[in-house]
Amino acid sequence: MISATLFPGRYVQGSGALSRLGKELARLGARHILISSPFPLERLLPPLLPELEQAVTLRVERFGGECTDQEIERLLATVQDFQAEAVTAMGGGKTLDAAKAVAARAGIPAAMVPTIASTDAPCSSVCIIYSPEGIFQRADLLPRNPDLVLVDTEVMAQAPARFLASGMGDALATWFEAESCRISRGRNIAGDVGSMTAHALARLCYETVRDWGPSALTACEAGVVTSALERVVEANTLLSGLGFESGGLAAAHSIHNGLTALPGVRGLYHGEKVAFGVLASLFLTDKPLAIMDEVYGVCGALGLPTTLAALGLDGVSDAELLRVAEKACAPEESIHNEPVDISPRLVLSALKAADAEGRRRNRHCTEWSSSKK
Ligand SMILES: [Zn+2]
Repeated sequence: MISATLFPGRYVQGSGALSRLGKELARLGARHILISSPFPLERLLPPLLPELEQAVTLRVERFGGECTDQEIERLLATVQDFQAEAVTAMGGGKTLDAAKAVAARAGIPAAMVPTIASTDAPCSSVCIIYSPEGIFQRADLLPRNPDLVLVDTEVMAQAPARFLASGMGDALATWFEAESCRISRGRNIAGDVGSMTAHALARLCYETVRDWGPSALTACEAGVVTSALERVVEANTLLSGLGFESGGLAAAHSIHNGLTALPGVRGLYHGEKVAFGVLASLFLTDKPLAIMDEVYGVCGALGLPTTLAALGLDGVSDAELLRVAEKACAPEESIHNEPVDISPRLVLSALKAADAEGRRRNRHCTEWSSSKK
């Protein structure tokens, strides 16, 4: 059996790390296209430009907002026209994914500068393609991972705390899914089994979110960088990326994909839906109470949804939930990496049990706090 572990070329993180960007980009090539989301284009980039332009020849391009085939074509034409030697992306997951795809098509290095910690897109070789209307089309596997990932934690601390919490929801899934793959010998993104490195990193990812998640969220709410925030940003961005890509995915992400069948969840971020997928997977895989307590406790402390109502699905019918379960159990879904029997009926039961458990815990919390008054 052959294992494969996928890494980005270099990961740079810290408070003020953007001051290193020019030097890091110069290593990758002399001519750069920098694709940026609107927020960093207007707020982060202007003070950086003089230094960047001293380090490399730069052309800045505004990202069109959706990672579509058309947008990738448009950006690729710009890269070719400019004869760029590398592509840099600044922004959220879709901007980064588009830049990775453009760099892969052009056969040049890619540098990622995420501005929110809600996604593990920066380190991975996966690119999610959407339709112009924003509907998921497919996940492309690119031939290589980004050459540079540079994360300024000051920028992360200034971003809304909900992004960080959502990233932790996604990071929370990493170990549970990698562990299921380890037991079942399920395949990772490369189509191989995960290495012991991937499993150890996935475990570290979980422990970091569990032990430092709430205090990192507090720091983010205060807009400041603390050691806890540094740890959690690394868990959300590097460990979660390495863990899912090399450790493998399982039920939590399939349940996320299933949930997207219902319009009620549209306002939620990826990691918020994944977190509920983790809770359902605890029932699906028959986890003991100590683990349940831990995960429900973390989700509660981070404000991640633990009930269907919190997912925007108040009053959802069994028929609708069965649609979610059926979509989660599609043949290509990673849920089949779970080392247990999988069927839409079992997933439906797990969804309902996870919701009932969330409601029970919320009720007890309320009863407990009102009895204290
Ligand atoms: Zn994810």
